[in-house]
Amino acid sequence: PRRDDCPLDKDGLGRSTWGLLHTIAAHYPEEPTDQQKKDVKSIFGTLSRLYPCEYCARDFRNELKETPIQLQNQHVLSQWLCRIHNKVNIKIGKPEFDCSKVNERWRDGWLDGSCD
Ligand code: FAD
Repeated sequence: PRRDDCPLDKDGLGRSTWGLLHTIAAHYPEEPTDQQKKDVKSIFGTLSRLYPCEYCARDFRNELKETPIQLQNQHVLSQWLCRIHNKVNIKIGKPEFDCSKVNERWRDGWLDGSCD
């Protein structure tokens, strides 16, 4: 186990970043304002230039071009992000996540009550 007061390695940085991004998507409104759409879009654009793993950032920029962000509502944004994360999972040989479970994982907690 790693100490949590050491610099983040690539995996630790990835886990923290996905945690923030999925949590933002989980709490995105049903009826976002133009400003809220703009803010979320800007986070992804900025991250794709600034993410401190150069080849990860480059692939992420290409991915955003290929699969533009979908900002209509919470469901649409969360599903889009799940697909984007799954593309990274596939690229690095990790199992795909079942996107029908994304709100359990990131918003509501598992149906079996294990997060209560
Ligand atoms: P993570 O992939 O970090 O996922 C954290 C948790 O999210 C999982 O435990 C699971 O509960 C949940 N989860 C998994 N998949 C999904 C999904 N599709 N939708 C919703 N929830 C999900 N690493 C590389 O080696 N090469 C790269 O090119 C690379 N690019 C990256 C680009 C970005 C933008 C980010 C944020 C990270 C990138 N990473 C990359 C890191 C990599 O994605 C993982 O974060 C890292 O390998 C640690 O993986 P993990 O198994 O802890 O789970």
